[in-house]
Amino acid sequence: MRIIDVHTHPIFFRSGSKRAEVAKLVARSRALGIVGMVSLGDVLLHGIHPTPTQVSEMNDTNARLQSWHPDFFSSFCFLNPVVGERAVMKEVERCVTKYGFKGIKLEISNNARDACMKPVMEAARRFGLVVLQHSWSMVNLKLRRLHSDPADTAGLARRHPDVKIIMAHLTGCGFRGVLEAKGCDNLYIDTSGGYPEEGLIEYAAEHLGADHVLYGSDLPIRENTVTIGRILGARLSAADKQKMLYGNTARLLNLK
Ligand SMILES: [Zn+2]
Repeated sequence: MRIIDVHTHPIFFRSGSKRAEVAKLVARSRALGIVGMVSLGDVLLHGIHPTPTQVSEMNDTNARLQSWHPDFFSSFCFLNPVVGERAVMKEVERCVTKYGFKGIKLEISNNARDACMKPVMEAARRFGLVVLQHSWSMVNLKLRRLHSDPADTAGLARRHPDVKIIMAHLTGCGFRGVLEAKGCDNLYIDTSGGYPEEGLIEYAAEHLGADHVLYGSDLPIRENTVTIGRILGARLSAADKQKMLYGNTARLLNLK
């Protein structure tokens, strides 16, 4: 099966940034059937609240990676929404016009419910970008002001029905996360986060539709072999698995 991985960090805390290391990663990935990867950037390099200059540097690094293998990597523009409208708009415009980035990546600088998300969504709308929001079930965890719960990400999607949003980390969002996302046509979920859990992929397909589930690994935090196996081993039709592994992301990001 052809595969696109929608959630990766090929350069992680600066490791893997040499050109030869990237070439090795591409070769190893292609051997597994992966024909494309979305690089979300080295997002936690400068902690949870990077300055606009640090954000630009991280996006430049991501652009360099993409330029080495433009037929393999697509990139998302990493943002710290807290820095405000001017800086957000400027960075998105720069990454789209200069580098052709395909989406926006949001991590743990703030919660998806916050007012600072408004200009981020406006930028996504203006440039036709998909927004990938870090999400994790926060029922038993603190720091929800920084980490978006599936309910927060689903709320964002409901407030902005004209922007396509990816809720990251199916395994971290869990069965409740799937139900929070249910009925929201502009909301997709990626399969990254944690190790495979019995029945979860099938549950997501049942409640969201197989066309709303996207294969993601969170490389290098998780392995491609295990995360691909989690989809191949699900009790679903070959056609549904192929949609999750390739077709949905190819369509969403307009990739060939
Ligand atoms: Zn990630």
